[in-house]
Amino acid sequence: MNKNKSFRAFCRALSLYDHFLLSCHVSPEADSIGSLLAMDSLLRRLGKKTTVICEDPFPQRLEACLSSKRWKMLNELQKPQSYFQALITTDCPTLERIGKVRDIITPDTVIFNIDHHISNQFFGHFNFVRPKASACGEVVFEIFKRMRMTIHKEEAKNLYIAIMTDTGSFKYSNTTVSCHRVAAELISLGIDVDKINDAFYSTYSLSRIHLYSRLLSRVKTTPSGKIAWVGMKRSDLSHSGATYEDAEGFIDFLKYLKEVKVAFFMSEMKPDRQVKVSFRAKGNYDVNKIATYFHGGGHLKASGCVLRGTLHQAEKAILNCLHQQFRLG
Ligand code: 5GP
Ligand code: MN
Repeated sequence: MNKNKSFRAFCRALSLYDHFLLSCHVSPEADSIGSLLAMDSLLRRLGKKTTVICEDPFPQRLEACLSSKRWKMLNELQKPQSYFQALITTDCPTLERIGKVRDIITPDTVIFNIDHHISNQFFGHFNFVRPKASACGEVVFEIFKRMRMTIHKEEAKNLYIAIMTDTGSFKYSNTTVSCHRVAAELISLGIDVDKINDAFYSTYSLSRIHLYSRLLSRVKTTPSGKIAWVGMKRSDLSHSGATYEDAEGFIDFLKYLKEVKVAFFMSEMKPDRQVKVSFRAKGNYDVNKIATYFHGGGHLKASGCVLRGTLHQAEKAILNCLHQQFRLG
């Protein structure tokens, strides 16, 4: 593995290849997708052939603000795997995060890793990783700048949405002077922030509200109130008519509790006996450590992992780990 962080080497290598596969992580969200679409556009402007691919479908709820036109799922690929010389990943701390897309790369595929996770494993032949960047979108913005590429309006929109969402609309602790400066520059390129906000946030379905009401009624806390959690069963989705996507963002409600220091949201996944977990922290509690313990990862204050077992088993294991690590009552 080449841990070459040099930007010049990164760009020089980019120019060597003609056909790129671009992939974000499984269960893609707006930072990963916005970064991917902007990189795709940059490469195409440089005359490269590109294929945007993901194991998962384009999230329906993002269709109002991000373009799914170039999105392909694995089973839609027609070309043989050797067709791609290089792979670009966005927002992936490990190569495992691209899921089954790994099956179509070969030992010869040159990997470009673009990310901002503190837990990034430098799995690429070329790695452009900025743990201080608020979002992967901010890293891609830097690539545009360093390559002296002007940023087109659609690219600006993709990057703005990436940064806006990963900072919780400039509220989370990863909100920095730098990300505000980047956002200001992107807005100056003519994007319509009001329209983006409406398209992104004012989109709840009634089913989603019904799902939230079920989940809100089951929130649990430790006696001190410092840990809060809830588990979503698959039947919560069928009873409310909601989807997995509808549950995204629910964890914020747990963080809104005044006493809460650490929150986690567990979701029963489609393959039985697997539980997807999201962690969030307030103050100095490193939930990346907790997720990493369970073979996941992420950031200090927002991380995730997948556990084998039932919701009940996951709950027990996580509470044990939290008590051991943080001694929160
Ligand atoms: P979310 O809770 O919104 O799904 O994810 C929060 C953060 O944790 C994201 O930055 C995401 O990259 C990371 N994350 C979520 N699930 C996993 C996982 O299963 N494995 C790893 N390595 N990171 C995850
Ligand atoms: Mn991100």
